[in-house]
Amino acid sequence: MKKLLLFLLLCNPVILLAQRTILHCGKLIDVTKGQVMNEYSVIVEGNKIVDVVAGYAKASGADKIIDLKNRTVLPGLIDCHVHVEHETSPTRYQETFTYNPADYAFQSVVFAERTLMAGFTTVRDLGGSGVNISLRNAIDKKWIKGPRVYTAGKSIATTGGHADPTNGYRRDLMGDPGPAAGVVNGPDECRKAVRQRYKEGSDVIKITASGGVLSVAKSGENPQFTEEEIKAIVETAHDYGYKVAAHCHGAEAMKRAVKAGVNSIEHGTFMDDEVMQLMKQHGTYYVPTITAGRSVGDSAKKPGYYPALVTPKALAIGPKIQSTFAKAYKAGVKIAFGTDAGVYAHGKNWLEFVYMVESGMPAMEAIQSATVAAAELVGVADKIGSIEKGKLADIIALDGDPVKDIQAVGRVVFVMKDGIVYK
Ligand SMILES: [Zn+2]
Repeated sequence: MKKLLLFLLLCNPVILLAQRTILHCGKLIDVTKGQVMNEYSVIVEGNKIVDVVAGYAKASGADKIIDLKNRTVLPGLIDCHVHVEHETSPTRYQETFTYNPADYAFQSVVFAERTLMAGFTTVRDLGGSGVNISLRNAIDKKWIKGPRVYTAGKSIATTGGHADPTNGYRRDLMGDPGPAAGVVNGPDECRKAVRQRYKEGSDVIKITASGGVLSVAKSGENPQFTEEEIKAIVETAHDYGYKVAAHCHGAEAMKRAVKAGVNSIEHGTFMDDEVMQLMKQHGTYYVPTITAGRSVGDSAKKPGYYPALVTPKALAIGPKIQSTFAKAYKAGVKIAFGTDAGVYAHGKNWLEFVYMVESGMPAMEAIQSATVAAAELVGVADKIGSIEKGKLADIIALDGDPVKDIQAVGRVVFVMKDGIVYK
């Protein structure tokens, strides 16, 4: 009998796939309806959810049961703004001169696994050296453990702007980086930079529409692209099916970016009422990154942590993001969860939920921002973002009910991604 079964399995892989995993969920969060349901079963076959049923379904044949009766089960979380290649440290600025691409690659393996184990089964990597593209591929091939990555590759900046990789260098080291390195001036170069990202295999386009905190440059908020340049990027991006994420701290940069049709405003620190109205009108998402803001504000108080040009920007911008988020939420701007992990320690992405709830967003909505809403922003709502029949099996479980106690999102006890149990 055993031999016969083995024979059948060998010549018919379909039988192998027919083995189901049944998750018995004490509590299950239906993020589409915004409800917590008691005693449900989620049935997984291969990498897909094949059914969600009331009660604890019985196993048959080779089915495997996973007991999560004392847990709260929810869709794998999505962070729409991370940088998996890096992590903050007082020596971070020296790494540019001492790290080889392989050093970034090995380090990103550690950060990717940490992110997945924290319950984030999908991330949008909004800018690195391009190692993030290879990282995505390595995860997809299952060489290493990590979340699904949708990556921008290298983000696009203007000369001297936030994400010009040569800012603050000695003049003979600066050179004049162009569109291939993600530094553009004028609509033609904007189009070329987008096409270069396509050639390299990016999934999304990221621009730095205003100054930023951590670049070695004076302004953290001035507009750094013309509206015409952003339009050229958005139009070209759409030709390739890309969404565009715009880093912005200053209001003028946000107005230009929203009018030019970007899909999300990242950080949004000095967002005013006009920007909020424009975002609502255009359906633009706000990705707040409160965690990064608070973290840079704290680090800036440590003497010598950042270069002298960076410290005052970190002190002025960092702590402000949380109150901006509170205002934008109240005004009804669409929110998608994003933390800027890398600017603070990877794996602590869950802190963002705590800060969102602290700022007046109900816990269920915060969870929805990191599931259904985030999936919509990334453009993968048909595949992930909720626990529903036909979707990919990205499922996590928490010790505790996050709707009652948001701190529970920091207690991830089970992680399944693409039908594979990682924790
Ligand atoms: Zn960022």
